[in-house]
Amino acid sequence: MIQSVTVYCSSSNLAQEPFFNEAEALGRGLAERKIGLVYGGGHVGLMGRTADAVLKAGGKVRGIIPRFLEEREVAHYGLTELHVVETMHERKMLLTDWADAFVVLPGGFGTIDEFMEILTWKHLGHHKKPIILLNADGFWGDLLRMFERIATDRLVSPDYVDYFQVCNSAEEVLALIDHENR
Ligand code: AMP
Repeated sequence: MIQSVTVYCSSSNLAQEPFFNEAEALGRGLAERKIGLVYGGGHVGLMGRTADAVLKAGGKVRGIIPRFLEEREVAHYGLTELHVVETMHERKMLLTDWADAFVVLPGGFGTIDEFMEILTWKHLGHHKKPIILLNADGFWGDLLRMFERIATDRLVSPDYVDYFQVCNSAEEVLALIDHENR
């Protein structure tokens, strides 16, 4: 049962508006399903927008932020729970431990790092949790092509495609979650 979803996404306020709309739709949809959001605890970028959408729709949000980022990422003090930790590693551990599934929205280096970590951990058999890539506006296309190249060059087995699912919209992500919860 998926009761708690960890969302990884951009901390940039300059992201394009359609990405913000997807973040909002995802947040609202999670709250409507009484699925809790777990995320990096910031008020910036797609992170903040997702959290606000969940809260506005009456849902629960747990944020985990390292003390040194409390200011830079404008820690969100209106969350159901805000956990301030000492290191990025602690943050990443709780973000993965508290998830029943992961959703990855468009993002920068931080988001890519988090995606690679949960992907490689699944590859190594450390977890079996669903990973859903929200490929809004084809954002992740080049990375997906890179993965194909890696498989073509036999650096990873072609069954890597089973480790994650790709959706084009928040609506598709929510339908997938509903399917998993049936
Ligand atoms: P970004 O996608 O770069 O906007 O970052 C999204 C989130 O990932 C932010 O909360 C960053 O603090 C976080 N982040 C940045 N670098 C890392 C990293 N190396 N490991 C884990 N999270 C990171």
